[in-house]
Formats: sequence, structure tokens, C-alpha cells
Amino acid sequence: MNQVNTIIIGAGAAGLITAYELTKAGKKVTILEARNRTGGRCHTFSGDDFTIPIELGAEFVHGELPLTLKLLKEANIKYEAVCGDNFQSKNGKIKPSEFFMEHWDEFEKALNEVQEDQTLEQFLQQNFQEEKFAGLRKSIIQFAAGYDTADPKRVSLFSLRDEWLSDHEEETQYRISGGYIQLMDFLADQIKKSGGEIFLSSIVKQVNWQVGSLEVITADNASFTGKKLVLTVPLGVLTLTENEAGAITFNPNIPQQIKAAAEMGFGGIIKILIEFIEPFWEQRGLNNLQFLFSEEKIPTWWTQNPQKNNVLTGWLGGNPQDEIQKLNDGKILKEAIHSLAHIFKADASFIEQKIVSAKVYNWTADPFTRGSYSYATIQTPSARKTLKTPVAQTIYFAGEALFEGEQLGTVEAALVTGAAVAKEIIDAQEYKIY
Ligand SMILES: Cc1cc2nc3c(=O)[nH]c(=O)nc-3n(C[C@H](O)[C@H](O)[C@H](O)COP(=O)(O)OP(=O)(O)OC[C@H]3O[C@@H](n4cnc5c(N)ncnc54)[C@H](O)[C@@H]3O)c2cc1C
Repeated sequence: MNQVNTIIIGAGAAGLITAYELTKAGKKVTILEARNRTGGRCHTFSGDDFTIPIELGAEFVHGELPLTLKLLKEANIKYEAVCGDNFQSKNGKIKPSEFFMEHWDEFEKALNEVQEDQTLEQFLQQNFQEEKFAGLRKSIIQFAAGYDTADPKRVSLFSLRDEWLSDHEEETQYRISGGYIQLMDFLADQIKKSGGEIFLSSIVKQVNWQVGSLEVITADNASFTGKKLVLTVPLGVLTLTENEAGAITFNPNIPQQIKAAAEMGFGGIIKILIEFIEPFWEQRGLNNLQFLFSEEKIPTWWTQNPQKNNVLTGWLGGNPQDEIQKLNDGKILKEAIHSLAHIFKADASFIEQKIVSAKVYNWTADPFTRGSYSYATIQTPSARKTLKTPVAQTIYFAGEALFEGEQLGTVEAALVTGAAVAKEIIDAQEYKIY
């Protein structure tokens, strides 16, 4: 039995920063991580026949994000702005991307007039039911699904309004040299140097707890005891039923918290990485390609610009219940090849012959994620409040879903919530609130 001060479940960004801050403050910390690696949804992969490390999970730093950039500087990790031109493929033609949606002005006007929050679907049904708006409805739903991985039946209209109609300038996005793994490795090294422990391949099954003390049991029956627990597993895992892989049973139960997690939105995502023998898109005039948007089954693609290499990334966001999110990797790769073939008006065999290496990562099917990242529902503000309130000063929650603000669903969100929980624990112990 291992007695520690704080046990953290999950070694993703939130779990690592919590441990980093706690160990820096001299606390005894143990992280239990289900996978055989740290980083969670930050997953830089080197292997197969890829000639560069590829990001299977998080890839971009979405703007001037204070905590992420502070940590990168502290760790002396370089990052670089992404750049290039965006294109769109429509009706068999590729042209520079421009924002155009028929009836957008009417949509924007109606959106500005809404007084009470509702779901996107309710809003579209009430205001844009007529046949002439069919194209608008489809585009708007795709927009919400593609980027926010949001279900129109659940997503909060107000959250989309804040995102879509805010007039802040497009922020520079960055990529971390060597990938997000650099930052995760830095945090893990610092934790170990300060005496913290990270147990990999430790799937937590059960938490027995009472005020100020708890026992955590893993799938291989290892037992860890501590005073406080920080739970950083994704919403998709928190809401699993008892016998599914990754599910955690609480004794006594914490039904209010599990209900709150279920009330928040959690999408689905599949990422497809393909390295080619040459950048064939450049021969078709796309020399400085950054993003390429289309209406294909795998609609969004991008390069590693400004890095010069032959990798394209495909992105398919949506509802975890969508049929395509349930396809096996081989079928998804086939869809990806067909999508590229349509976009570039080529035979699928032309695309296939140029592939050096390909990897499909279906996060929706991953037992320790079960989806993509969170989006706001109408219940999110009250649900978040519930999860941000520690259970009997003993069980704390952190992770991207608990973040309040525009960066919900990002690595920055996970880092900020983890750092905040660490501070809460340090403060509580200083004032002897156990
Ligand atoms: C495909 C994809 C692309 C993304 N792109 C970006 C991007 O470009 N920029 C950005 O900022 N964000 C991006 N995100 C979101 C970002 O990756 C996440 O918001 C962030 O990494 C979440 O960190 P977290 O610590 O909250 O959760 P996680 O990283 O999911 O960490 C939770 C950890 O808990 C572990 N766990 C689960 N169940 C158990 C169990 N029973 N026992 C023990 N451990 C368990 C998991 O294995 C995991 O390591 C992307 C996400 C995905 C999936």
C-alpha cells in the first residue's frame, strides 16, 4: 500500500500540471495513468514509416495562451507560427477560401436577437425551417460539428454566438517544435525530480473514500491511499457505466458529479495522418497550402506549413454517435483516400500509390478518451459549478471541460484548471481544511 498526500488520476495536461505545482510546493503526489504513456490527448507519435513526429491529438496552440506559452518558455521549448493560404474545394473546383454562406446576414441578425439560451437545433427550427434555408442549416450544423465537435441537439446557442460573432482578430496559431510531447515530458521530468511518482499502465477501477482519506484500486489490484484525489479523466470516461473499460466506481457514489459530467457536451473526433512520397498538391497550384476545406466525408485537411514535408492531416469532427465515428480504421482510411481523390480530381489509386505511411486515430473509440473534447451545453455553467466544488474537500476535478472561457476544450484549458486545483489543495492544507 502506498500512502501519499494527493492521488491524481490521469497523466494528461491537467494531471501533469496539478502534480507539477503540488510537488513544487513540497507535496507528496502519485499519478495513476491508464495508458503506457503520459500526455493523454496530447499524443506526439514517432514511428511506422513517418519521417517526422506527428500529432495524433492536440497540435496547435490557439493564440497567445498565457499558461501554455509561459511553460514553453520555462522549458525552453521552441514553437513556431503556422502560416500559408487557405483553400476550399467546391463543386469540383479548388479556389482560395472565402467566408460565404447564403443567408448568413439573416442568420446573424436572428442570432443577435435571441434573449434566452437554447440549442442550435431549436434555433434553426424556430427561425430557419423553410426549404430555402436548407443549405444554411446544413452549413451551420457542419460548422458546429467540424470545429467544436458539437451536437446541434445539445450545443448552447449562446456559446456558439460568443465564438462566431465576437469581433476579435484572428489570432496567430503555433505549433510546438517536436510536438506537444515536449511539454508533457518536461512536466513529467519536473514532477519526478521533485519526488512525485507516475505509474503508467495503471487503470483505476475503484475509489473508496471518506472525508480526508481514500483508497484507489487499479485493474491489477494495486492499492494506493491518500488524503485527496484529483480526477482528470475526460467527460467520456467519467460518464461510463460500471463494466466498460476505463470506468471508475466510487464508493460511496458521487451521483451529482456524474450527472453534471453527463450534462456537459463531449464530441467525437477522428484524425488521419498521411505522409506522401511528394507534396502532390503543390503540382496542382497549392504551393503554400495551409488549410483545405471541402464537403467530402473527411472534409478538412491541412499541411505542416511552414515546415516543408509531405504530410497531410485529415480531420473529422462530429457526434460520437455518428455512423462514421464507428467505422474501423481501415474503412476510415479508405474514406480519407476517396475524399482526397475527389478534391484533387484524381483516381483513388493515384493517391494510394503516393502514400508512404498512414495512421488513423479514432479518439471516439479510444477507451480512455471516448470522444474529442468538451463543448458548452445549456446546462454547462451549472454542471461546471458542481464539478468545481470539491466533494467533501477530498475529491477534486480538473481537465479541459472545467475551464470557463473561450479556450474550453484546449490544452491551455486543461493546464489552467489543473493549476487552479493544485492551488486550492495547497491553500486548503495551509489553512488545515482537510
Ligand atoms: C484529435 C484532437 C485534436 C486536438 N487538437 C487540439 C489542438 O490543436 N490544440 C489544443 O489546445 N487542444 C486540442 N485538443 C484538445 C486537447 O488535446 C485536450 O483538451 C487536452 O489535451 C485535455 O487534457 P486533459 O488533461 O483534460 O485530459 P486528457 O489528456 O484526456 O487526460 C486524461 C488522462 O486520464 C487517463 N485516464 C482515463 N481513464 C483512466 C482510468 N480509468 N485510470 C487512469 N487513467 C485514466 C487518460 O489515459 C488520460 O491520459 C485536441 C484533442 C483531440 C482529441
